[in-house]
Order: sequence, then structure tokens, then C-alpha cells
Amino acid sequence: MPFSFDAIRAVVLDMDGVLWRGGDILPGVPAFFDFAQQQGISYAFATNNSSKTVDNYIDRLTNVGIPVGPEQIITSAVATADYIRQRYPVETPVYIIGQQGIRQALAERGFSEDPARAELIVVGIDFDIGYEKFKIATLRIRAGADFIGTNGDRTFPTPEGLVPGNGSLLALIEAATDQAPIVIGKPETAMFEVALDRLGTTPAQTLMIGDRLGTDILGAQRAGLKTALVLTGITSAEEARTADIQADAVFESLADIQAAWETVVV
Ligand SMILES: [Mg+2]
Repeated sequence: MPFSFDAIRAVVLDMDGVLWRGGDILPGVPAFFDFAQQQGISYAFATNNSSKTVDNYIDRLTNVGIPVGPEQIITSAVATADYIRQRYPVETPVYIIGQQGIRQALAERGFSEDPARAELIVVGIDFDIGYEKFKIATLRIRAGADFIGTNGDRTFPTPEGLVPGNGSLLALIEAATDQAPIVIGKPETAMFEVALDRLGTTPAQTLMIGDRLGTDILGAQRAGLKTALVLTGITSAEEARTADIQADAVFESLADIQAAWETVVV
């Protein structure tokens, strides 16, 4: 069945490579959200980055002219903390490897750190990682603690090239413990389930807009959402044509999605 905007009532957007690329806002981005508001299309943002807080993203989105509230921001840290809150009592002692994003998300849900007694090890990207942190995580997991990762991206792009992502930290701990982590971020479905819950739409009414086939598009398809790939980020037009993972539709940019969508609304 060809892709149609007719049934779409909400969009979930990745940010890096969709709204901006590094420090540069992509053309036509604030206008898309004016269009969405005029049409009554709700929206949420989903990022695998666990290092930043929800407030960090609200500041950045607001600064580029996108109206947004905290419930519309779903980081892998937020989804991980929700997942943990639903499954573990708040008294469960945790040990966190990671930055402010995951630390704040767990603290807001009532969890406290206790490295010596931790029954749950939560691992997000940590720019101050060192042997001691890996050692604590390894000893606790070997003593029976559960092992959860915010996201499995082995690398992420920077101006200098690809650098180690959280998946690389998880791989080290897995090697040291023979335990595979439970992973929450895209392409797993947990973040999409949080997004659908907050948007109040069904998967068939919800369009994922992303720039990465292996995370944004694959994860959304697993969760049953419609998918649109944009070519403003990591995926080239050639890759989009030849990859095993195929989005429902491919657009040059978010501005092109708006242009196509405008032709079918009255
Ligand atoms: Mg992206």
C-alpha cells in the first residue's frame, strides 16, 4: 500500500539529522511545527542520547522556535527511567554509569545510588568513564544485579569522526560479565511505546521521522508506526535506495515532508 498522510494524527521526530545537524538548524524547521499546530497534528521528540536532560532539550528546541513541553521529550534516559520505575520498587539500590540526563531521570523517579549494594546497574554514555566504574558494574552484575543500557549505539558521529557510543561501554561490561544488557533506546520498541502513550495515538496514526535506518526506521517499524526517512542526516539517497530496511517514504528534508503533506490537506 502506498504511503498516505491521511491517517496520520501525530509525529515522532528524531532530532540530530532531522531538526539540526551539529550546531546548524536545518532549513524550514520551525515552519513544520507551525503547520503541525495548524493541522492539529501532535508531536514528540525521541532521541537515543541519554546524556542531556529534558530541560536541556526544551531550551534548545525553544531557542530554534519550536514550542514544546516536557512530556513531548523522550530521551533514552527518560524511557529507561520509566521502564525501571514500572518494574522495580524505588528502594532498589542502583549504580549509574552516565551523565546528567540518566541521573536526573532516575532521581526524579525516586531512585538512589548505592554502588556497594546495587541490585540494578544502569549504563548510559559517560564522558568520565574509567576502570573504577567498569569494575563496580562488573562486580555487582557478577553478584546478581540486573544490567540495563539506555541505548546500544556503538558509535556516534562528531566533527572529528565516529567516537565510542554507549554500545561500546555495554560491550565492555558484557565481555567482563558474560551478561547481555536489556537495552531501551531505538531500535528497541520501548521509546516508541512511551511516545504513543504520551501522544495518545495508535501506531497506525503515528509517523516516525528520522535520519537513521537501523534505529529510527527499524525501531518504529517494530512498534508498528509509519515511517519517513529524511536525507538531511546520516543516510544518503543511495543508501536509502539499496538498504535492507526500507522506510514507508523517503524525503529530502522535513521541509519536503511539509510540502508533500500540504498538498493533501484541505
Ligand atoms: Mg538522527
